[in-house]
Amino acid sequence: MHEYSLAEALLKQVISHAPPGSKIERVVIEAGPLQGIEPHAMQTGWQLITRETACAHTVLEIVELSWPLHCPACGKDWTSPEFPATCSCGCADSHPVGGRDLLLKSITIAD
Ligand SMILES: [Zn+2]
Repeated sequence: MHEYSLAEALLKQVISHAPPGSKIERVVIEAGPLQGIEPHAMQTGWQLITRETACAHTVLEIVELSWPLHCPACGKDWTSPEFPATCSCGCADSHPVGGRDLLLKSITIAD
């Protein structure tokens, strides 16, 4: 499962960023559209993976990013919530650039 391995990689990242022994309350990630993440599956994967760890019962918040697009006709770069999308110049051949990121945005640690 795609999301399961992503959750596993995320957990490693979270643990390496959090001070040892700290209680993590919330993890916020940004997911680029090309990751093809299904938020529900990601949540399930996260819960399974973190069950026996310091991240158990952590709230995982997934922020889904817009498509970063490039227009071959006029050279404009912009973002769109959907793909394919038509550029403001009328060209419908815009293609995604980047957007593959799964970024750890923030970690909230309990007092
Ligand atoms: Zn254009």
